[in-house]
Amino acid sequence: MPESFPLVSIVTPIFNEAGNVALLASRLVEVFQAHPEVSWEWVAVDDGSTDGTESKLREVINAAPRWQLIQLSRNFGQQSALRAGLDAASGGAVIFLDADLQDPPGLIPEMVARWKAGAKVVFAVRRSRGESRARQFLVSLFHRCFHALAGGRMPLDSGNFGLCDREVADILRKLPEHDAFLPALRAWTGFPAAVVEYDRLSRHSGSGLPLLKLAGFAWSAVTAFSDLPLRLIFLAGLVISSVGFAYGAILFAQRILQFFGFFKELEVLGFTTVAVAVFFMGGVQLLSLGIIGEYLARIYREAKGRPHFIVARRESGGKDIP
Ligand code: UDP
Ligand code: MG
Repeated sequence: MPESFPLVSIVTPIFNEAGNVALLASRLVEVFQAHPEVSWEWVAVDDGSTDGTESKLREVINAAPRWQLIQLSRNFGQQSALRAGLDAASGGAVIFLDADLQDPPGLIPEMVARWKAGAKVVFAVRRSRGESRARQFLVSLFHRCFHALAGGRMPLDSGNFGLCDREVADILRKLPEHDAFLPALRAWTGFPAAVVEYDRLSRHSGSGLPLLKLAGFAWSAVTAFSDLPLRLIFLAGLVISSVGFAYGAILFAQRILQFFGFFKELEVLGFTTVAVAVFFMGGVQLLSLGIIGEYLARIYREAKGRPHFIVARRESGGKDIP
C-alpha cells in the first residue's frame, strides 16, 4: 500500500441508531472530503437493529468512498459487532467509532496523522463527558478499576473510539476469546501508542445502555481481562480465617486462665454475635461462589466454541473493494 494513499477503515457498531445514522454519515463525509489524500472505507455493522436503522443506513452509506454493510443475524452486543467489523475491514488502519455521535468523527484525521507518524495504536482520551452524574460516576469507577487491573496500559478514560494498525488488528482478530473487551486488548498488545484528547458529548439521540447493563458490561470486562477477583477470594479467606484463629486463641487463653482461677465465670457470647458471624460467613461464601461461577461460566462459553457473531448479509460498494 503506497504511503501517500493509505486505506483507513472506520468500523461502526450500530444497534437501533435510526435517529443518528444520517447525521453520522454527514459528519463522516465532512472528514472524507477534507482529507482526499486518505482512501476511506466505512464498515457499518448492523447489530440486529429493530427500529428501521437498516433502511436509514442504506440511504446514507453510499456517501462513503468505499463501504461495507455487515448485517448480523440478531443482536450480538457491541463488542461482537466490533469484531465483525474488524474481520471485514480491509484498511491498513482500523478505527472504531460509535454511531451515537458521542465521539466526534472530526478527531479521526488527528488519529490518522499519529498513525502515519508511527503509532500502532491511537487512544482517544476523554477530557470531559456530557453524561448524567450517575453514569459518569459508574463509568469513571470502572475506568479506574480497569486501569489498575490492566497494568495501566489502557489510558484512563478511553473506550471504543481509537485506531489500530493492521498488525494490531490482525492480532485482535485471531484472539479466540468470547466477551473480549477489544479497546483494552488493543492496549494489551503493547505496541507503540499515542493519545489524542477530546470532549465526549452526550448521545445525539437514543438512550444507550441502561445503567444496570452498563454495570454488567463492566463486570464482564473485568473478569474477561483479569483473574484478580479470584485472588481476592483467597485474600478474604486468609483475613477471615486469621481473625477466627486469633479469636480462638484468645478464648483458649481465657479458659486456661480460668482454670488457674483468674476468672470466676467465662463470658458467654450472645446469640447476636453468632447470628452475625453465620450471616457474614454465608454471605462471603456465596459471593465467592458467584465469582468462581463467573469464571466457570466463561470456561463453559469458551468450551462450546460458538461463533462470536453470525453474518446474515454482507454488501459492499464504492471504489474497488479487495
Ligand atoms: N451497540 C451495538 N450493539 C449493542 C449495543 C450497542 O452495536 O448491542 C453500538 C451502539 O449502536 C453504539 C455503540 O455500540 O454505536 C456504543 O453503544 P452505547 O452508546 O450504547 O454504549 P456507551 O456509549 O454507553 O459505551
Ligand atoms: Mg454511546
